[in-house]
Amino acid sequence: MAKFIFVTGGVVSSVGKGILTASLGRILKSRGVTVSVQKLDPYLNVDPGTMSPYQHGEVFVTVDGAETDLDLGHYERFIDQDLTKLASVTSGRIYQAVLDKERRGDYLGGTIQAVPHLTNEIKSRIYGAASQAGCDVLICEVGGTVGDIEGESFLEAIRQIRHERARTDTLSIHVCFLPYVGATGELKTKPTQHSVRELRSKGIQPDVIVLRSDQTVTKDISEKVALFCDVEPRAVIPLETVNSIYEVPLLLDQRGLGDVTIEKLALTGTRDLDEWREMVDRLKHPKGSVSVAIVGKYVKLKDAYLSVKEALSHAGIANGVEVDIQWIPAETLESRPAMDVLAGVCGIIVPGGFGERGWEGKVRAATYARTTGIPYFGLCLGMQVMVTEFARNVCGLEGANSTEMDQETQYPVISLLEEQIGVVNKGGTMRLGAYPCRLDPGSLAARGYGADSVSERHRHRLEFNNAFREQLTGAGLRVSGTSPDGSLVEISEITGHPFMLGTQFHPELQSRPNRPHPLFREFIAAALRRQGLGAAK
Ligand code: GLN
Repeated sequence: MAKFIFVTGGVVSSVGKGILTASLGRILKSRGVTVSVQKLDPYLNVDPGTMSPYQHGEVFVTVDGAETDLDLGHYERFIDQDLTKLASVTSGRIYQAVLDKERRGDYLGGTIQAVPHLTNEIKSRIYGAASQAGCDVLICEVGGTVGDIEGESFLEAIRQIRHERARTDTLSIHVCFLPYVGATGELKTKPTQHSVRELRSKGIQPDVIVLRSDQTVTKDISEKVALFCDVEPRAVIPLETVNSIYEVPLLLDQRGLGDVTIEKLALTGTRDLDEWREMVDRLKHPKGSVSVAIVGKYVKLKDAYLSVKEALSHAGIANGVEVDIQWIPAETLESRPAMDVLAGVCGIIVPGGFGERGWEGKVRAATYARTTGIPYFGLCLGMQVMVTEFARNVCGLEGANSTEMDQETQYPVISLLEEQIGVVNKGGTMRLGAYPCRLDPGSLAARGYGADSVSERHRHRLEFNNAFREQLTGAGLRVSGTSPDGSLVEISEITGHPFMLGTQFHPELQSRPNRPHPLFREFIAAALRRQGLGAAK
C-alpha cells in the first residue's frame, strides 16, 4: 500500500506550494520511487471548469477530460506522468457526492455530519487515487492555507489517515512564507509559528517545514523555526525564490528534502537528477532569444495561459534559446495597426479562449501573420481564428465567422456540431479530454510530430464546419489532422506559408520540460528561421 505525503500551506497562499509539491514528486521519482500527485481544493466549486481565469488562472484538462486546477499542470510537467480526474478533488465535489448518497438513501436514515461523512468521502478519494495509481507514494497538496474554514474537513481527514497508518507511512510538510521587514532588514518567523500552532490544533504536527522567502534564509532563522515549531533542524528547508521553477527540485534536493523524505518514510533510493540538471542548464544558458507574441484576452493575468507559457519555454530549451513573450491584449489590434502592435515579433500565438471580446483583433493578427509570413500557431480558438480569417480574406466569404461570435453569419465556418447536423437544440456540450488524431502524411503537422497519429487533449464546443471544407481546402487550407474517421478537423495549416498552423485541441497541455511538444518545438524553430538566426543548437 502507498505512503502519503500531505503538503499544507501557511501564512499566505500563492507562495509556490504547487511547485514544491511537483518538485518533490520529481525528486522522489529521480530516486526510483513511483509517485502520483493529488490536489485537494477546499473551495466549494465542483470543479474549476466554470471559474474565471482572473481568479484561478487556466483550467488544466486531464487525458480523461477532467477540468482541473492549474497546479495539476505543474505536477504533470515535473513528474512527467499523466494524471487523471482522481487527482483533483474539491470540497464542492465532496459535498455533492455526500448529498447524492444522502438523497439515494445510502446512509439509511443516519444523520449526515462533517465527521465522519465528509471525512470518509475525502479519505476514500485519497486512498482511491493512491490505489488507482499503484504508486509507492501519493503526494497530496491541500489548497489554500491552514485556518481556512473550507479546509477543515480536509485537515481532519489527513489527521485520521496519519492516525490510521504507521509512523513511516505518512509525512506532513508545511510550507510557510517568511515576511521581510524592510525597516529592520529582518525575516520574521512569527507568522510561521502561528501557522504551525494552528496546524497542530487540528492534530497535525508537521514533520518538515519549508520556508519560502524572497531573501536569503540564514541558519539561525531555520534553527529558530525548528525550535519553536518542534521540528528537527535538518527538516527545516529554506526555499528562496529562484529564476526558474524548474530549478526548484535541484535546490530542494540539495537542501536535503529528498534525504529527509526518504528517511522519514523508510524508503530507499539514490538520487539521480542529472537529466533534470542538464535540462535546467540548457534553460539557464540560452544561446540567443526569440520574440513571440501571445495575442489573447487575459494577457494581464499570465496564469490564464500558464501551460502555453511553459510549452514555449520547453520549446525554447529544445532550440537552445530563450523565448521572449510579448503579451498582447487582442483588443489592441482592433484600434491599432497590426504592423505596429506586432512589430519585431518573430512568431504569433493565438491561444484558447471563449467569447467575443478581442475576437476581431485576433483575426487581424492572423491576417498579419498570413500576409507577412510570420509563423502563426493557433491553439483551439486560435485555429478557429485562422480558419475564419482564411475564409474571409482568401475565399472571399465576407462576414464568415464562428457562430460563437455571430449567430446570424451567412458563412458559419466554425459552428457547433449540433448546428452542422441540423439539430435545433444548441446546448452543445464541451468536447473534453484526449482524442486520437490522424495526421496527413507529408503535412507540416505530420513532419513535426514524426508520427501518423497522435492523441491530444480538447476543451471546446465548436468545430470546423465541414460544409465549408471543400471550398477552404480548394483555396489552400490543408486539413492535416482529423479524427480517425476523417469527420472532425483537428489540425489545419496554410499551404505555402512557412508555419501557419492551428489545432482544435490544446497541445500545450502535453508539453514537458524534458519532452517538449513537437509542434511548439517546430513553431519556435520557424520563429528562429524568421529571425534569420537559425536554430542555435
Ligand atoms: N470557444 C471555442 C469553443 O468553444 C474555443 C475554446 C477554446 O479555445 N478552448 O470551441
